[in-house]
Amino acid sequence: MSQPVPNITDPSFTLGILGAGQLGRMLALAARRMNVRTVVWTGGLEAPAVELANHVIDLPFDSQEGREQFCQLATLATVEFENIPRETLDSVTRCMPLFPSADAIAICQNREREKGFLRESGIPCTWFAVVSSAEQLAAAMQELNGPGVLKTAAFGYDGKGQVKLEGGEDAAAVWAAFGADRAILEAWVPFEKELSVMVARSADGSMVTYDPAENRHRHHILDVSIVPARVDLAVSAEARKIAKKVAAALDYRGLLGVEFFLLPDGSLLVNEMAPRPHNSGHHTLDACATSQFEQQLRAVCGLPLGSTRLLSPVVMLNLLGDFWPGETTLPDWSPLFQDGEAFLHLYGKRRAIGRRKMGHANFLGTTADEALARAEALKARWLNEAGN
Ligand code: AMP
Repeated sequence: MSQPVPNITDPSFTLGILGAGQLGRMLALAARRMNVRTVVWTGGLEAPAVELANHVIDLPFDSQEGREQFCQLATLATVEFENIPRETLDSVTRCMPLFPSADAIAICQNREREKGFLRESGIPCTWFAVVSSAEQLAAAMQELNGPGVLKTAAFGYDGKGQVKLEGGEDAAAVWAAFGADRAILEAWVPFEKELSVMVARSADGSMVTYDPAENRHRHHILDVSIVPARVDLAVSAEARKIAKKVAAALDYRGLLGVEFFLLPDGSLLVNEMAPRPHNSGHHTLDACATSQFEQQLRAVCGLPLGSTRLLSPVVMLNLLGDFWPGETTLPDWSPLFQDGEAFLHLYGKRRAIGRRKMGHANFLGTTADEALARAEALKARWLNEAGN
């Protein structure tokens, strides 16, 4: 935290971005607007951020040559993707400031470390047990004595690497079929809603939070984010408070996404954290004073944080690959363009494969419900036209 931070206004300043997906693309766009140079480190030249960056390194994240090039080109680094090898994070830290820190990223990239951190920090989270054998799974299932979810410790996202257990299954068979070395068994949470809060924390420890988003999923992938979340003000305030507590406990610098389960009694449990901008924060591009991408830039580069003020109720609709009538055939965007308060964001991905995240649309509204109705109507139309 005490490293001198390069000055963003220095003409030689170049922001290094580890990863080159859509989050990197939108960060590079925010940087371009302020004429800040970027270099992205990508695992393929078709990645969304490639065409927006000033420099591109197309080498594996564990390559020595990649590390050398990144260290030569970038003056300060951040991530748009958390599954970067720890050694790479450490080698980047040796040659430039990296925000958030390698330790914070390492906690968020692994569910075992993440849950352990939450528990040790006194932050409310789901009951869980770490398992690395069929015997340990059997013992954990017995202790849980009810429904749960088995999740891989590393590299899980969007419901991947997860299996729901009702309780009473044969642990040996479940473990053999699961095929991971290490996992966590989590209690199933009968949540009422899922919420998320984006929090930014700067070098001096000051923090800002965005209005909580209410998130609905489709096939385990975020479908819509409704902002402001339709919850009591006390719940919103508590979610913001917990998000700040998480950021402070991580000694965080940058933008952090905190996902929650809201229980029927109004209490909140943290599900997981993302050490970067988050899909549920994309509405900020059109509906907040400062977008989450500009906020990330400000927080990591040592600028004062921007206002998180919500300018309008908004619904973000994810545009997944199943909206596309064919892999390279676009949906008919004309009804969206006719809606003067809907805004299209596409990530430049060439092929719509499966339910890939191709883009999103933000619908501003007089109320969240009104915006949601317009978003749902277009979603139904596009899915129908695509035969899905
Ligand atoms: P995750 O990758 O952990 O965010 O899980 C993806 C989605 O699965 C979450 O957004 C929830 O909808 C659901 N889920 C995950 N863990 C649980 C749980 N313990 N109880 C109920 N639903 C869960």
